This record gives sequence, C-alpha cells and structure tokens, in this order.
Amino acid sequence: MHGLMMDFPLTIHSILEHGYRLFSDVTVTTRLPDGNTHRYTYGDMYRRVKRMSSALEKLGVQVGDRVGTFGWNNYQHLELYYAIPGCGAVCHTLNIRLTHDQLGYIIEHAEDKVIFVDASLMPLFNTISEYLGNVETIVLYNAEPGFETSLPNVRFYEELLATGDEDYDWPVTDERAAMGLCYTSGTTGHPKGALYSHRSMYLHTLGVLQANSLAVDQTDVVLPVVPQFHAMAWGLPYACCMAGAALVMPGPFLQGKPLADMIAEEGVTIAAGVPTIWNGLYQELVANPRELALKELVVGGSAMPRGLTANYESNLGVEVLHAWGMTETSPLGTSCRLPRGHQDMSDEQKWDIKAMQGRPVGGVELRIVDDAGKELPWDGRTLGELQVRGPWVVSCYYKREVNPENFTDDGWFRTGDVVSMTPGGYMKIGDRTKDLVKSGGEWISSVELENAVMAHPKVAEAAVIAIPDEKWSERPLVALVPAEGETVTGEEINEHLAPTFPKYWLPEKYAFIDTVPKTSVGKFDKKVLRAMYAEGKL
Ligand code: AMP
Repeated sequence: MHGLMMDFPLTIHSILEHGYRLFSDVTVTTRLPDGNTHRYTYGDMYRRVKRMSSALEKLGVQVGDRVGTFGWNNYQHLELYYAIPGCGAVCHTLNIRLTHDQLGYIIEHAEDKVIFVDASLMPLFNTISEYLGNVETIVLYNAEPGFETSLPNVRFYEELLATGDEDYDWPVTDERAAMGLCYTSGTTGHPKGALYSHRSMYLHTLGVLQANSLAVDQTDVVLPVVPQFHAMAWGLPYACCMAGAALVMPGPFLQGKPLADMIAEEGVTIAAGVPTIWNGLYQELVANPRELALKELVVGGSAMPRGLTANYESNLGVEVLHAWGMTETSPLGTSCRLPRGHQDMSDEQKWDIKAMQGRPVGGVELRIVDDAGKELPWDGRTLGELQVRGPWVVSCYYKREVNPENFTDDGWFRTGDVVSMTPGGYMKIGDRTKDLVKSGGEWISSVELENAVMAHPKVAEAAVIAIPDEKWSERPLVALVPAEGETVTGEEINEHLAPTFPKYWLPEKYAFIDTVPKTSVGKFDKKVLRAMYAEGKL
C-alpha cells in the first residue's frame, strides 16, 4: 500500500521560491574582479534569475541542453546556478584549473550549447578556442563596455538578461530531470561527468542543512571559498538560499589577506574551503589580527591537518568542521561533529576526532570492503575501500557504461579512498587507490605527468607519487631514471612540461634513482616508492 502524501517535485526553483518568499532582503555580496564590491538581495537575485531563465529559453536553449559556466564565485555565477536549471537546462560548471585538453574534451563531450564566461578569465578561455566549434553562443560577464574579443557569437550578460521576462513560468516539474554537470579527473583517461538531478541536489541541500552536518541557518553569513566550478561549491549556493543565510562571494580573491578582510568586513560566520586556503588565512590572521564574527571553518577536499585545527581553535577561537565528499557525491558525504559527551573531553581528544573525516550525513550510507569485496568491521583499525550509496550519489557517469571499476554489482559507488571506520561511525582516510595527487584542492594525474616526463629524450623511466606538503596538502614527486649516459635536471623537465600543463602541475621535487621499483607484473610499485620516501630514501 502506498502512502497518501503529495508527490511534490523537488526542484531547484522551489529552493529559489522559498528563499525569495522568506528571505528576499538577505544580501549577496560579491568581490568583483576589479576589486569593487557588488551587493544585492535574494529578492533582486530572484528577479534576475527569472529574466535569465526566460532569456535563455528565447535564445533557443531547450530542456536538457547543457549550458557551460567558466567563472569565479560571484553573483552572476550564482544566478546561473538557478537560471540554467530554472529553464530546464543543465548547468555545466567548467573547472578553470583543468588542462586545456581536458577542458576541450569536456566542452565537446557535454556538447555545451552556450557558455557563460567571466571576462576576467578571457586570456585562459582563449587558450581553448579551438574546442568551441559547436558552441552556439558565448555570453560574457564582468566585461567593460567596448570589450573586444575575436570569439564569434558573443553576447553580453546584461544585454541578454534584458531580453528576458520577469514573470517567467518554470517549465520543469520532473524532479528526476538533470540540472547540473560536473566533471572530475580520473587516474587515466578523460574526465568523467557526474550528472546531478533536481531531486538529488534538493535532497543534498537538505543534507547540507542538517544539524550534524554544516547546519547553516538564517543568522549566518557564509563565504564559500570552495569554487563554484568544483563540486557545486559544496552545494552552499542552494543551501544558503534555502536557509536564508547571507552569501559572500570572493570572486578571484582567494589569498589570506583579501579573505581575512572580507571575513572581517562582511561579518562572515561560516567559511568553506580546502586546507590550503585556511593555511594562508591562518598566517594572515596571526600576523594581522582582526575582530571577527567567524565561528566555524568548514574544511574538505583534502585532509585537514590536526595541527591547523588545533591552531584555529586554541589561538583564534574558530571551530573547525572537517568534512569529506566527492564530485560523485554532490559532494557532501561525511561531516565531523563531535559526539555526545564531548563536553567532557580534553582539547587533545577533540582534535583527534576532528582529524577524522567524520560520520556519514543522514541519507548517505558507507561501508568498507576488502579486495574481494567482503565487508570489513568498523573497529577503528581495519583499512578497506570506502563504498558509498544514497540519493545524491552518482549511479553512472554521463554517457558512459556502468563499469565494475567504479560501481559494484549490488549498487554501491567505489570511492577509491582507503579508510577505517570507528565503531561509532567516524571515517578516517588512510590512503587511496586513485593514482592522483591533490594539490590545493585540485587533481594532478600522476600517470599523465609521468608519461609526459618519460616522453623527454633524456629520461628512461619516471614514476610520480603524492607527497605531503604543508601549504598545498600534497605535491607530486618525480622519481626519475635518466636515460643511459645522460644527465638531466628538474628544470629541463619542467621546461618540457610547461606548454602542456597548468603551472600548478609542474613538480618542484625530483629524485634521481637507478631504477623504478616494479610489482610482480612489471608495474611501477608506488607503495615501495612511498615507503622509500617515508624513510628519507628519495
Ligand atoms: P573531488 O571529487 O575532486 O572533490 O575529490 C574527491 C576526493 O578528494 C575524495 O575521494 C578524497 O580522495 C579527497 N577528499 C575529499 N575530502 C577529503 C578530506 N576531508 N580528507 C581527505 N581527502 C579528502
């Protein structure tokens, strides 16, 4: 027997309608690329979103079309988070930090019909112009009047917006319709797309708002430093509107000083980002203390060092909330709130807990398994592969077959993280099976890097591993065997890599060795390399 409750569709525009009705005077503040501040309210945003949805429809964007965005966190990008799904299209956030080959691939793979570009990123966007052949319209924002570009079919944001109607009716009523698309790098091969639905993002929003989770509320001022182009800024653009929290969008200003100024000037209470960002902010706040309303930092994307948590909490009185997630999990999966009875714990005990990635958010299920797929105990010691399932976890990658490398037969997603679980359900990441380096929140593919290094004529073999780094969380280390009779330097290799990869991919650390250790089947044995590094032998 079915229950007798309304089958009310969970859609992105219903989040916006809620925010508009209840919180239309709450502000959204943006630091613009020219350093000026833009300020308006959810009420203003709502009217502009409606216009933009309508304008997109008039432009010929149809339900299910993919519309790309290439920009920092700012109010126009926020409008697009609502306006694109609002007209039934799919908001494809292009990660500006991908290599130009990867960007080209994802634009073509997603078949983006329109791309919105922050004009301050034009020099970077121009490097991918060869891949734009099938894109019908490029829409520029933050462009000064008279802005010149050689790209064809360019429109300007405000001019396009003016063609739309404010009394637009939302077309989507099927909550399972796609609303967002975000690609993530794999160990090898092309990036893979996570295709979110209205329903999954709506439920994720409720997940973000849970009290044991980020618990954003209507008294908060939230600064998402985590980019809108990476894992939907952790869903904060939706959660804040639903909760009535004010938003502060940092634009391109992600360094310690401007962030500290923004936090102080705008009365930010919660800020979210990767550890690298909080490291920079900490240095700044210690060097130049400020009066802050900041109560909590949400940290994810890489492991938050225990020492940095202790520094924030004991020296600055700012709480740290460690969280874990993936592009494939929308992204929020776990959050590390202290358990019942924590009032009686010492600070040291609390920081031991906060160094873990935390408990699954209500709605997300976790399990750990061994190599044979057998479930492992939650004893706080046993390491196994983390698998996850839930209503905001991918069931398949966009335009790909479901494959055993990423999905189990019984319907779980394989995260590639190797973790232990405490009996109380706290997850701790120990390792990962993905052969990737996560530097400052963005991925570097070890395999792509080592292939490119090995293409240098003076190199016989090279293997890349991730090594810990205080500033960037991880950096690549290249273990390199020079070709017979050759000597080669790291600088020479980096010159060879520079035309192909973004600057942050270029390794600063090279170790010259006689041979790369191999497994029984002749693959590079990175476990051995990691152990050599830990013993100081690299
Ligand atoms: P992405 O999809 O690019 O956001 O990357 C997701 C991956 O980042 C996860 O599978 C983990 O390997 C890593 N990650 C995310 N959050 C954390 C965290 N709090 N601690 C350690 N690694 C993390």
